[in-house]
Amino acid sequence: MKSSTFVPHSELVFARLGKELSATARAVAAAEIILDAANELIGWDACYLILYDPQQGGRPRPLLAMDTINSQRVVEYDVVPEKPSENMLRAIREDGFLSLYEGTFEIAPSLSFGNRKQRTLSQLFVPVRSGERTIGVLSIQSYRKHAYTESSLETLKTLANHCAGALERIWAQEALTLMAERLKVLYQAAHAVSASLDMEELCDAIHCTVEKVMPCEDFVIDGYNAETNEIVPIYAIEFPRKRVATEKYFADHGLAGRIVHSRKPVLFNSLEEMDKSGITFEFYGSNGKEASQSIVAVPMLLHGKVGGMISAQSYKPDAYTKDDQYLLELLASHAAIAMENSRLFTTIQYLADTDPLTGILTRRKFYELAEREFNHAKRYTRPLSVMMLDVDEFKKFNDRFGHHVGDLVLKLVVLQCKLSLREVDIFGRLGGEEFSVALPNTDLERAVQVAERLSRLVKEAVLNEAENLFEMATGEKPEKDSVKITVSIGVAACDDSCKNIDVLMDHADRAMYSVKNKGRNQISVWRNGQ
Ligand code: GH3
Ligand code: MG
Ligand code: MG
Repeated sequence: MKSSTFVPHSELVFARLGKELSATARAVAAAEIILDAANELIGWDACYLILYDPQQGGRPRPLLAMDTINSQRVVEYDVVPEKPSENMLRAIREDGFLSLYEGTFEIAPSLSFGNRKQRTLSQLFVPVRSGERTIGVLSIQSYRKHAYTESSLETLKTLANHCAGALERIWAQEALTLMAERLKVLYQAAHAVSASLDMEELCDAIHCTVEKVMPCEDFVIDGYNAETNEIVPIYAIEFPRKRVATEKYFADHGLAGRIVHSRKPVLFNSLEEMDKSGITFEFYGSNGKEASQSIVAVPMLLHGKVGGMISAQSYKPDAYTKDDQYLLELLASHAAIAMENSRLFTTIQYLADTDPLTGILTRRKFYELAEREFNHAKRYTRPLSVMMLDVDEFKKFNDRFGHHVGDLVLKLVVLQCKLSLREVDIFGRLGGEEFSVALPNTDLERAVQVAERLSRLVKEAVLNEAENLFEMATGEKPEKDSVKITVSIGVAACDDSCKNIDVLMDHADRAMYSVKNKGRNQISVWRNGQ
């Protein structure tokens, strides 16, 4: 407690306080200046200053708490409770009060932070008000009995009033600086996000950005298929950065269902808020032990259509502010464009790589993959064989039964070939009625077996389907054996003479043409010197 020089000294303290606060840009530093002034004016053994974040609907934001242990000052930031205590609420209600703990302690003697051996025996609580608004609570404590009087309460109130404006300004400035920094991250992210056409890379970039700007233990990007009204999982991460596989589901329930149908963001900061929303949540969380207690989720909108949702989730309550929601909305608008581009790109790529009639690889894609396989085979000295397959006298077939039936036969040929091939085999339509296959890890002998099986299956299948095909073309039953399709196949294995994939393919091609010269419907193997 201060001596009789209180009045002039306090003027001095207030004058210095104003100066120091105006030179401060950080709220924590401002709080320390204010609490130091309270120490000079009144004295304390412990103290705290808590601000109320208007963004968080009046939820207290611990700013600074200090304690003295062995006359050493200890600064603690996390000891102040997340929810307003009874005393804080009372301080606001009663415009400050003096609490003197007498006799046995029925009420816990409040917060004496670090120095647990000491008990708070006198305590002052005052609200920090800027104009009409309460922006926080300031409290000082003493370990002595009757350390404070009504007059010390008035002094603390004056101090609180004196500082409120500056504190609010610093706090707002800090929030703006923080927002500017987060916007900068977002701006950079927008570039990274729009630079990628690969969906996986894109989702990684979005996830990394969200992690940088807000708490994010779990993270979800879901797509929405409006035609089927289904939520289609695209990307889901649970702490610590573990990918989770989820199933698609009808959009009539769940978080994503709510978001895509309401087209509005949601922000929950506690399990109670989630309960009240009526949404059935599916939590990821490590082995179900940890569940998200805070969720912010926003729709991805593009050209007025909803394409899905993005959600950041935290295992702690009160993790998100409205600012977080706005940032996520901003990011989601970039993400929606980038994901649409990626989808279009994938579609175009699919069209370029896939033969529309048969669904197998186009010539270009076949050569690309076959070349990769060729290089692999050379590097690791593994066998590689290729086949050229040409439908015999297909022109005549077309002339007789029409192109439509011809098309069906080509599809049938492809289907039969696929039955003989493995997942790893590369199968393409080089053009017209010509097909090729690259068989990784396959020697010549095995490749010939595959070719024989393939040739037999094609013949049998067309014979089996002959009645249907003929009837389709003519409306009549066919004469026996009148609808026949055979194939000529050239087979070649990679050897030292093959400097590149083109040479190997040329060998198979030559083998195939030798079959044509010999009367078709056979298999021929390219041998060196042929
Ligand atoms: P060869 O036994 O010597 O290979 O005789 P071919 O008649 O099969 O060979 P040619 O190269 O003279 O003719 C190929 C025919 O394949 C010409 C064309 O009518 C047919 N063709 C090519 N592409 C398609 C297609 O997409 N659909 C249908 N129905 N026919 C096609
Ligand atoms: Mg042909
Ligand atoms: Mg041909």
